[in-house]
Amino acid sequence: MPYYSLALDIGATKTVGAIVINNKIIKLIKKPTASSTGRFKILKNIEQMIKDLIAQKEVAGLKLKEIGVGLAGQINQKDGLVISTTNFSSDFKNIKLTKILTDKFKVPVKLNNDVKCFTLGEARFGIGRGYQNIIGLTFGTGIGGGIMINNQILTGKNNTAGEFGHMKISGHWLGPVHVCGCGEKFCFESVASAKAWLKLAKKFNENKANEIVAHNIAIGLQNLCQILNPEIIILGGRLIKQEKILVKIKKEFLNQTKHYPWLKNTKIVATKLGSEAILLGSLI
Ligand SMILES: [Zn+2]
Repeated sequence: MPYYSLALDIGATKTVGAIVINNKIIKLIKKPTASSTGRFKILKNIEQMIKDLIAQKEVAGLKLKEIGVGLAGQINQKDGLVISTTNFSSDFKNIKLTKILTDKFKVPVKLNNDVKCFTLGEARFGIGRGYQNIIGLTFGTGIGGGIMINNQILTGKNNTAGEFGHMKISGHWLGPVHVCGCGEKFCFESVASAKAWLKLAKKFNENKANEIVAHNIAIGLQNLCQILNPEIIILGGRLIKQEKILVKIKKEFLNQTKHYPWLKNTKIVATKLGSEAILLGSLI
């Protein structure tokens, strides 16, 4: 009997579910994550998304092989554990999500941080093909990161290497600095995420928001390049869908790295696969 896989991209704002056959996405469903509604409801929504995918006519007569989950949080991949999340309700932490889903659906479940999945997906199937040293960043409600060095995803002790959103940035803001979802001030994501952009666009205008956020993003990228020396930086998330901001980020990055010839050829590109990178990467 032919097989299919399911992949979920669970962000703080929306959840995307996909049916995947032979590394190709053949059906997508989107729903709000309702991440502020509490642990019980969020888990119910995840289970319902999987049930909805299994019920699609495209997979009638096929057998479910596996489920991949990319989640916007800190994940202990070995234990299939959601350690914590900063943009979900405060009780959505310390959850053995792999066990919950394996018990329910009786198939192997892979769980990883969404942007590690994004970086893997782009490296294998997208614009990162052929590169061995890649940084992936996504700019949505928060900022997520994935690091691939010499073809290996860096994990660190708790698989949380790449939590770029909470590194501290003394960027521009033009107003009182607000507190990040993690409880701290001056986090990268509180001055450079899509959420930060929206606040600035409301306060000033879109051009000013682009200018400030691009400047802040370029500071973050410059720091990451000094530490990790990637060949290519792949940017994704809803903020990057605007062509104008990508142009500004590249310009700011060149400006901020002009004294560092060793960073001269670092490529900055927009994602090719978008959220499909997370979905395909969750099954790797
Ligand atoms: Zn933070």
